Amino acid sequence: MPARWRAGDRFASVALRRSLAASPFAGLVVVGIGLVTSWLVVYLMGGAGNLVPHLFYVPILFAAVRFGPVAALSTALLAGVLAGPLTYLDVATGTPQELDRWVSRTVFFATIGVGMAALVRPSLPSVGDDLRRRRTAGHLRQALDAGELFVRYQPVLSMRTGAVYGVEALVRWDHPEFGELEPGAFVPDAEASRMIQEVDAFVLEDACRRAVHWQSLAAEHGRPAPTITVNLSRANLEGSDVISSVRDILRRTGVDPGQICLEVTESMLVEDVDVSAARLAGLKTLGVVLAVDDFGTGYSSLSAIHRFPVDVLKVDRAFLAALNRDPHADTLVGALVLLSRSLGVTLIAEGVEDRAQRDTLVEFGYDLVQGFYYAYPLMPAEIDPLVTAAAPFEAVAVSGGDVGGEPTSERLHRGGDHARGRDDRR
Ligand code: C2E
Ligand code: MG
Ligand code: MG
Repeated sequence: MPARWRAGDRFASVALRRSLAASPFAGLVVVGIGLVTSWLVVYLMGGAGNLVPHLFYVPILFAAVRFGPVAALSTALLAGVLAGPLTYLDVATGTPQELDRWVSRTVFFATIGVGMAALVRPSLPSVGDDLRRRRTAGHLRQALDAGELFVRYQPVLSMRTGAVYGVEALVRWDHPEFGELEPGAFVPDAEASRMIQEVDAFVLEDACRRAVHWQSLAAEHGRPAPTITVNLSRANLEGSDVISSVRDILRRTGVDPGQICLEVTESMLVEDVDVSAARLAGLKTLGVVLAVDDFGTGYSSLSAIHRFPVDVLKVDRAFLAALNRDPHADTLVGALVLLSRSLGVTLIAEGVEDRAQRDTLVEFGYDLVQGFYYAYPLMPAEIDPLVTAAAPFEAVAVSGGDVGGEPTSERLHRGGDHARGRDDRR
């Protein structure tokens, strides 16, 4: 885990630095080139008397944006010297500039530089973020074409039977420089551009193809077909072509739509209840299962949840993290069992990390769970033996009774040659 987080953090900070010309040295070079070019143009045009030296504003403004007021002031003074003593007023006749003219010009430059620095400073972080997002989105396009994106699958299991109920598709980027990146390092940037639609389509197609494979593998062993869950981004749900693009992928891959579950987060639903309800109803006509992810964090959708044709609620893992520590979390996690029963929806607890959490869930009557206590997101080949086995995980007596013991199958770890092998992805 820590190594993975470091890769994501390193990726974000390097991308940010590279986005605005961005090592300090590169920034200084840009300022230097701007000053020399401005001087050259003014000189070649016959001097500062023939051409108002507006060009000098460019490096001054760049210094203001890139480095702040002190650099803007220094650049302005340099520009003043270059546009003054180092440029004859009239190059052709060799007339030198008058002292008071270049002093007043330099003061003007300096005022512009410092003023600009003060103006742009508050918006600098957002400018940097925006540039970084665009850059990441561009890199993602290349990554998609180069086959660097792949999908891990995290099991969802029944504690009652110990069998795999399904898997959730979670995208990853095998970055040539930073190694395996988790979605937190690039999905938000992809969401800020249209790239997320392509990423989601890639993941859905991968999931559908695997679903066909796992369905036949499970059938060979007399096991039910697992449900494959795919996350749908906000931009996708809001897009008018989401239904046709999902339909195309379902048809192209020949998957049974009932085996595919599309997940939207609760916060996406509360944004525009009417649009979300209409889109979900459209998706439902395709025959897919619909789930609300991160349930409990979107606040107001409890009042509207009956308006959405959802089949599954996934309890946000923040509530599980607070289990046994915060009585409110315990109350809510317990109450969701009653809510799901009265709504007639399936309930999944996400983020089970330890045995104490598992035991509390068992006490509350939960059955379906997903979490690192049982399995990390795995490579597709590692899912094969799980869908064919009757009980790869330990079965426990749900709703009271004996809940002791560790999961029988050793906890399934990410990483290692097998998990990272490219061949497993195809
Ligand atoms: P999510 O849909 O809620 O997915 C579950 C996340 O929780 C996964 O993180 C999973 O690794 C993590 N998780 C599962 N069990 C545990 C646990 O016991 N403890 C902890 N601490 N974490 C656990 P991941 O893979 O980093 O994905 C993060 C989010 O990125 C996902 O949250 C989902 O919102 C988004 N995402 C992932 N793949 C895609 C994709 O293909 N498209 C879109 N639009 N979003 C995606
Ligand atoms: Mg999800
Ligand atoms: Mg979730």
